[in-house]
Amino acid sequence: MPAEKVVIIGSGPAGWTAAIYAARANLEPLVFEGALTAANQQQGTTPLGQLFLTTEVENFPSWPYGDTRQYLKTALPADNQPFWVQKDRPQPTHGINGPELMELMRQQARQFGTRIITDDIVRVEFNKHPFILHSLGGQQVEALSVVVATGARANYLGLPSEDRFKNRGVSACAVCDGALPRFRNKPIVVVGGGDSAVEEATYLTKFGSQVYMAHRRDALRASKIMQRRALEHPKIKMKWNTEVEEVLGDDTNGVTGVRLESTTNGSKEEVAASGLFLAIGHTPNTAFLEGQLELNVKGYISWTTPQRTCTSVEGVFAAGDVADDYYRQAVTAAGTGCMAALDAERWLAHHGWI
Ligand code: NAP
Repeated sequence: MPAEKVVIIGSGPAGWTAAIYAARANLEPLVFEGALTAANQQQGTTPLGQLFLTTEVENFPSWPYGDTRQYLKTALPADNQPFWVQKDRPQPTHGINGPELMELMRQQARQFGTRIITDDIVRVEFNKHPFILHSLGGQQVEALSVVVATGARANYLGLPSEDRFKNRGVSACAVCDGALPRFRNKPIVVVGGGDSAVEEATYLTKFGSQVYMAHRRDALRASKIMQRRALEHPKIKMKWNTEVEEVLGDDTNGVTGVRLESTTNGSKEEVAASGLFLAIGHTPNTAFLEGQLELNVKGYISWTTPQRTCTSVEGVFAAGDVADDYYRQAVTAAGTGCMAALDAERWLAHHGWI
């Protein structure tokens, strides 16, 4: 079997945009969109990326508020109408939500001939060419060029009690879960001191009676404007110098509170809460690349040429959050996905392979 011209690993906005561009350049891209395993569900690395875990996406250009149902019905194939397009579901007037946006990007890539495999790439051999990719399901694929777009996932504290109450009050995504009835008019705890923590806490004030921000130090890492937003908000209360020692709850109610421990004197305090939201950073999905590609100290792929998506291995390109812990936006991920496809096309042409 001849080597694939380009294999794209990952199915968030970066992966699909790379696929659309590569398909339109006749590169016949093959996308490994990830596997729907229990482990991936547990850590939030299922196909369609982090956007699949969000609700409204209000900042992706081209999606003003409106009823998108009619458009979705015509844009997606009749035999693949996702649950949110079904007739009997109420359709709020909105721009677009994360799953819809991802499904549309996926369909757009398919329309131009992208082939899709619902499987994870778990091992790569970038020290030979064509590159060799190994999948969880046992497939082996040869590729002349590769675009890595595997994104990043939210971090958790790693407490057994946190694991026990995941989806029952413990979450790492306020916009996905904040509006659930269990959080309405009840206190909520957010952990972290960065921009994400402030953003999550501010968002959660729409629902909770009180939002506690538990931060392990006595100063926020967040930008000044975001700090002010948290410190001046009447519903946000800081719990400085504290770490979560345990998530409290039971099988009937899920989370009922958290036990905080002081980082300065070890004293403990129990805070009643219906939920615990983690905003303590992200981990890039790069474990399968270790030893094969240059990663930075935080584990993100290093772009090796300014304004390009090149990596330490010629012919391997990186797009989206897997190489970006700074902007982390759907639109920037899509932008670098486009760049990676163009970089791959030019690299293949330079070698006379297309
Ligand atoms: P971040 O800036 O790395 O902040 C992570 C926070 O979590 C820090 O306050 C850190 O504490 C805390 N933390 C980390 N590990 C912890 C642990 N095990 N236990 C308790 N606390 C822990 O991450 P981020 O807030 O997700 O932001 C990432 C990037 O995206 C930043 O560049 C940020 O500016 C950007 N961003 C921007 C916006 C915006 O502008 N609207 C919104 C979101 C994110 P320490 O401070 O003690 O290290």
